[in-house]
Amino acid sequence: MKIKHNKLLTILLNTMALLTLTVFFSCQEKEGGNTLNSSKQLIQPENPLNKLKYDNTIDFFCKMDITRYGVSDTLHYKGKLYGFCSKMCKDEFRKNPDSYLTDKTVLEHK
Ligand SMILES: [Zn+2]
Repeated sequence: MKIKHNKLLTILLNTMALLTLTVFFSCQEKEGGNTLNSSKQLIQPENPLNKLKYDNTIDFFCKMDITRYGVSDTLHYKGKLYGFCSKMCKDEFRKNPDSYLTDKTVLEHK
């Protein structure tokens, strides 16, 4: 009886060790994926949007300096090209573009 119990315990321990290893490795894979995703969100110098010339230097909605932090969305409005840090800011600008354009603090920042 005692031997049987010990055998069972060994099998259990082995199974647990195997499971722990599997979980450990799958976690590592997940973490690797996350790192890739977060690095995508960082401003990349290779981002072609950052090479364009914009008529604004500051995101109209959030007032962020797009020349420093990068552009992830753009909008053509009345023949000018505006850059925005995010789609959300662009959408907010589109709701009432003229009210933002009369804000001289933004345009005269150049
Ligand atoms: Zn913004």
